[in-house]
Amino acid sequence: MRRLLATALLPYAALQNAWHPGLRILMYHRVARLPAYDQLTVSPQRFAQHMQELARHRVVSLDDGLRALQSGRIRQPLFAVTFDDGYLDNLTEALPILQRYRIPATIFVTTRFCDQALSHPRYGTTAQRLHLNWDEVQTLARTPGITIGSHTLTHPYLPTLGDAAAAQEIHDSRAQIAARLHQTVAYFCYPSGDLSARELLLVRQAGYAAAVSVAPGVNHPGTDRYQLRRTEITERDDLPQFRLKLIGAFDPIHHILHARRSRRFAQRHAQPGASTEATSS
Ligand SMILES: [Zn+2]
Repeated sequence: MRRLLATALLPYAALQNAWHPGLRILMYHRVARLPAYDQLTVSPQRFAQHMQELARHRVVSLDDGLRALQSGRIRQPLFAVTFDDGYLDNLTEALPILQRYRIPATIFVTTRFCDQALSHPRYGTTAQRLHLNWDEVQTLARTPGITIGSHTLTHPYLPTLGDAAAAQEIHDSRAQIAARLHQTVAYFCYPSGDLSARELLLVRQAGYAAAVSVAPGVNHPGTDRYQLRRTEITERDDLPQFRLKLIGAFDPIHHILHARRSRRFAQRHAQPGASTEATSS
């Protein structure tokens, strides 16, 4: 149904892309063979198919993408690739495919996952190690084309934290990754994508150059660089559907779904007694 609608919207999206091209940031999590469908996992075969297709376009690092946004004019559609949570398979499965097609990517790591002290609750305990350790993050950081960003210390739902804890998650994760990698950490990724005005302020104050959310759509020079939009890619995106996503034909549908989700989020946090109100900036 969504695909049908997206196909119908294709001519409109193609025109938008031609007249007003922007930076589209793709969001991946895991690249692995799993027995059942998982929204956060694409198979290595699917990922290779995506990267082969993407390589026909202009794919940039977040640094170059941000520079293009700041220049005030984007002349052709630009694409960037990101991975959230710092899974081991980003190194073992995704990296060889990225290198085959010379595609730069940013990996957002959660420091306690790299410590192997915590792991993403979605996958429980697995026989195989789930997350990158620090040696592996260092290897990735030294790999040309790979950028390491922060995805907090513990992957909390940031708006539910008190001010001090939220500041610590955002600030200390940047400092810890920088200390491990001996390089500055320019990019932040909000866990689960939900954020309030307080998180925006904290990310800015912590010294990040930009941050990515899960709001859908393409980024233009006017887009807030602390709320960069991303396009979620899943195993269900076969080649025709992946092409529709690259051109933005799914954006109107995703905007509606995201608005609904944001409304539910706002309602939840507007409850009296909620300690998670955003502080005004
Ligand atoms: Zn995450």
